[in-house]
Amino acid sequence: MIKLHDSYFELFLSEEEIQEAVGSLAEKIAADYKDEVPIFVGVLNGSFMFVSDFLKAYPHDCEVSFVKLSSYQGLTSTGIVETLLDVSEDIDGRSVVILEDIIDTGRTLQELVHLFTNTNVKEFRIASLFYKSEIYNGEYNIDYVGLEIPNRFIVGYGLDYNELGRNLTAVYQLKQTDMMNLVIFGKPGAGKGTQAGILKEKYNLVHISTGDLFRYNMKNKTALGQLAQSYIDAGDLVPDQVTIDMLQEEVERNPEAAGFIFDGFPRTTAQAEALDQFLESKGMMVNGCVALEADDEVLTLRLLERGKESGRSDDQDESKIRNRFAEYNEKTAPLKDYYTNQGKFHSISGIGAIEEITERLSAIIDQLPK
Ligand code: 5GP
Repeated sequence: MIKLHDSYFELFLSEEEIQEAVGSLAEKIAADYKDEVPIFVGVLNGSFMFVSDFLKAYPHDCEVSFVKLSSYQGLTSTGIVETLLDVSEDIDGRSVVILEDIIDTGRTLQELVHLFTNTNVKEFRIASLFYKSEIYNGEYNIDYVGLEIPNRFIVGYGLDYNELGRNLTAVYQLKQTDMMNLVIFGKPGAGKGTQAGILKEKYNLVHISTGDLFRYNMKNKTALGQLAQSYIDAGDLVPDQVTIDMLQEEVERNPEAAGFIFDGFPRTTAQAEALDQFLESKGMMVNGCVALEADDEVLTLRLLERGKESGRSDDQDESKIRNRFAEYNEKTAPLKDYYTNQGKFHSISGIGAIEEITERLSAIIDQLPK
């Protein structure tokens, strides 16, 4: 295991496995280009080590050049691809093979294809040493692939984590913890609080209710609480990063937890992305998202009943209750899509006895991938 900045990485591919993949790529490409002198274009910075070993393994005449693009910051792609070093001009009429270290979402590749479609090359093909087939957008055909790898953040052999790790001769992957992290949604009255309380005991999870977290930080005037308060006092929305920082402190306060139940956050797709990014930087992830659903009519009756007992004014007015449902539907719809796209969304009926609902939830939790 190695540590780069604040994250731990474990061995994923040995030097021998990488060299074997590089050798077989060189062999395949050499078979296709034996009758001409191709130009290999390495994509900096990540591909410098791959290009070097590839050229040593390439048995025929060839030329080499580089382009430089940038898209990654930290552990996740920013989605912004800039051209920092353009392709040289003497490539007209030549065959070009782009040598990429890794293809992830495919955004960088898209930029590369644009770069080369604007030139007069005879043809260009794409070779990538590593290829994350699970998340590649599939827009362009990748002509040569060294190794297909799962969707994990890797470092070493030219690839960095915030500039560290490029000099490693083997490849390491971000250490995954086998935590169980859940995002829970529920319509008002569907029993989310009760169920979160039960699940927390049953699975040794820490329940993080963002509402409670805000109240705690503001009441105790912590640095983040005061920061949040200053936005609220100015009539502004508290930026997502403040909430994420509060979540981070709470996660770090509970190093023994077997996982977390996130309740009240995320509420927007941008927040869901920010949560993913934060968890990824800790080698964690959202394992599943569960929504406690129930028929609006049943819930309205339940809430009105609760309102009579508790005297809570927002539970006594039917139109206010219906507004809360409408708001729930509107807010959670994009999040349902977000987690559905990741194959992590689960919906549970919140109608029935408390134990029955816990059983439904447990059945889902027990089969979530860790
Ligand atoms: P894409 O544009 O396909 O999403 O990402 C391609 C670029 O992102 C690569 O050239 C590389 O710089 C970076 N990248 C993608 N996945 C990883 C990874 O797992 N580790 C590191 N260190 N960089 C990556």
